[in-house]
Amino acid sequence: MTEDNVKEIEDLIKIVSKLPGLGPKSSRRIVLKLINNREEIIKPLTNTLVQVYKNVVRCKTCGNLKSLNSDCSCSSKKYDQICVVENIADMWVIKNSGIYKGHYHILGGTLPSFENKSNNNGLLVDSLIDRVKKNSVKEVILATSASIEGETTSHYISDSLKNLEVKITRLAKGVPVGGEIEFLDDGTLFSAFKYRNPIAKD
Ligand SMILES: [Zn+2]
Repeated sequence: MTEDNVKEIEDLIKIVSKLPGLGPKSSRRIVLKLINNREEIIKPLTNTLVQVYKNVVRCKTCGNLKSLNSDCSCSSKKYDQICVVENIADMWVIKNSGIYKGHYHILGGTLPSFENKSNNNGLLVDSLIDRVKKNSVKEVILATSASIEGETTSHYISDSLKNLEVKITRLAKGVPVGGEIEFLDDGTLFSAFKYRNPIAKD
């Protein structure tokens, strides 16, 4: 609680503390920094947040973020490799590591560990199949987590692609069991990519 109990400040602290990695103490410090820098930080931040709220959307084809009024990079170029990840945070980790420079496909989550093929949990799987067909993609790299859900999802996707002429690979050992991509160090990620395994189609 702030000492003066100004409602606006209390509300802001509550919102800021919902951000990842921020507890009540660091949220208060951030809010104080904002209040002390109205023109330099609050004003441009407010404008930018409004722009992001209005104009940044998820691409319905590849799941990546894009500007509302411009085409997504997934539609503009031809490519022959797609790396499939669970979420945007995973893509950013792989991108920042520099290990893989190709295109991505963001599923938007995982399947629950019990496999129910009639329901894909709203994951962007159909559009992945379309992308593979349209671009004559040669390799799909499955970079889902080494958790039961990640494995189930990886299975489901390789099954969905089995009738297409595409090589499907899965990140190799080095990803610890239960390991989420987002929290892997670059070295582990590098070996997982380098030693990725082809998935046999049955
Ligand atoms: Zn896209």
